[in-house]
Amino acid sequence: MFKKILIANRGEIALRVQRACREMGIKAVMVYSEADRDAKYVRLADEAVCIGPASPTQSYLSMPAIISAAEVTDAEAIHPGYGFLSENADFAERVEKSGFTFIGPSPESIRLMGDKVSAKQAMLKAGVPCVPGSDGALPDDPAQIKRIAKSVGYPVIIKAAGGGGGRGMRVVHTEAALLHAVQTTKTEAGAAFGNPEVYMEKFLQNPRHIEIQVLADTHRNAVYLGERDCSMQRRHQKVIEEAPAPGIPRRLLEKIGERCAAACKKIGYRGAGTFEFLYENGEFYFIEMNTRVQVEHPVTEMITGIDIVRTQIAVAAGEKLPFTQRQVQLRGHAIECRINAEDPYKFTPSPGRITTWHAPGGPGVRVDTHVYNNYFVPPNYDSMIGKIIVHGDTREQALARMRTALAETVVEGINTNIALHRELMVDASFSAGGTNIHYLEHWLSQHDR
Ligand code: ADP
Repeated sequence: MFKKILIANRGEIALRVQRACREMGIKAVMVYSEADRDAKYVRLADEAVCIGPASPTQSYLSMPAIISAAEVTDAEAIHPGYGFLSENADFAERVEKSGFTFIGPSPESIRLMGDKVSAKQAMLKAGVPCVPGSDGALPDDPAQIKRIAKSVGYPVIIKAAGGGGGRGMRVVHTEAALLHAVQTTKTEAGAAFGNPEVYMEKFLQNPRHIEIQVLADTHRNAVYLGERDCSMQRRHQKVIEEAPAPGIPRRLLEKIGERCAAACKKIGYRGAGTFEFLYENGEFYFIEMNTRVQVEHPVTEMITGIDIVRTQIAVAAGEKLPFTQRQVQLRGHAIECRINAEDPYKFTPSPGRITTWHAPGGPGVRVDTHVYNNYFVPPNYDSMIGKIIVHGDTREQALARMRTALAETVVEGINTNIALHRELMVDASFSAGGTNIHYLEHWLSQHDR
């Protein structure tokens, strides 16, 4: 096992990884930007290295700064967390070339899955069902683009091959709007992702977002840890996640889970990963794979009892998965609410000093956050400041526990979306389960204030 790991991230996930290291008897090196200098999780680390100013490009996205931090501290491995460099194949490659272990899949796997066009092609080959659409990237010829759209059938969605974070997508309802949409998405994709390639998919009208968590080792073992329902989204960003997915037959979920585990073996995948699907009318359609730990991994940990971060570290060190598919048992129900520093209804970011922080507790309640009383939320990063996760024997019990947890939570000094979560947890449709990906935005438009 590694003796020392460098954590190339910040905030709640940096603390989450640090906790796993502690538990495993591994020393944790934290890198931090000047904006995170005073954070408690930085002080808690065995060692901490400042890697630059607040701006992410000069710190958490700076490959040379991170690799030299690993060199000066004699770390053996680097955990990238999520976001920042976690899905950057060049980073993974540079980490390995510099003699460190990258805690994640191989650069080749990241590259294959990071390009949505090649990912889809690999998944089709591995027998994973995908959204019907263009066969690869769209050609330049306008007549051909129109022909493809016609055969896919309107509405279609134009998506950037290099897209991510809910950006680089455009829905098209008519042929009249098609070419302009393709051109605009291409231009944006070139500027934002350095790759102007776009592809086309049928736009599914009312799907749910269902994803499969997988874990694979370097000994050709791969398992799936059930699914998560992440349909509660705003602007393609997840707000609430839960597991299991309400109302979907277990047999269907097992079938798709098995396909995902088989696909991992086929592409030689290692580490943690997530296959994202849209689910409509009893069918699953692959949209993309995330080759890293996800924000919502705790809901899976709560229902399986498996520590995903710990397992990531173990398989990166060459260990075998410590359990078989059969040993993965789902128990009860878990729900996660992402806590964001933002106006609960207008969504404007609300950085600043937290004057009061009172976290919830009690049976089945888990709070993953790096914040505390008097913590200053820097304006330079994502607005998510933590997650409240609850577990119950049933979905009803989980919902009741989340309502209690949210009622107990007090955050003062900044705005948070807790008020929104409180309303959603008593909403009749959400309580009934199975809302689709448009539900939250629709709800917000009806509750305009
Ligand atoms: P990203 O990598 O930016 O997160 P995804 O491909 O995962 O992009 O899509 C993000 C979200 O966009 C999905 O969860 C869904 O809400 C919506 N979406 C993507 N593709 C489609 C599609 N073919 N039909 C309907 N909605 C889609």
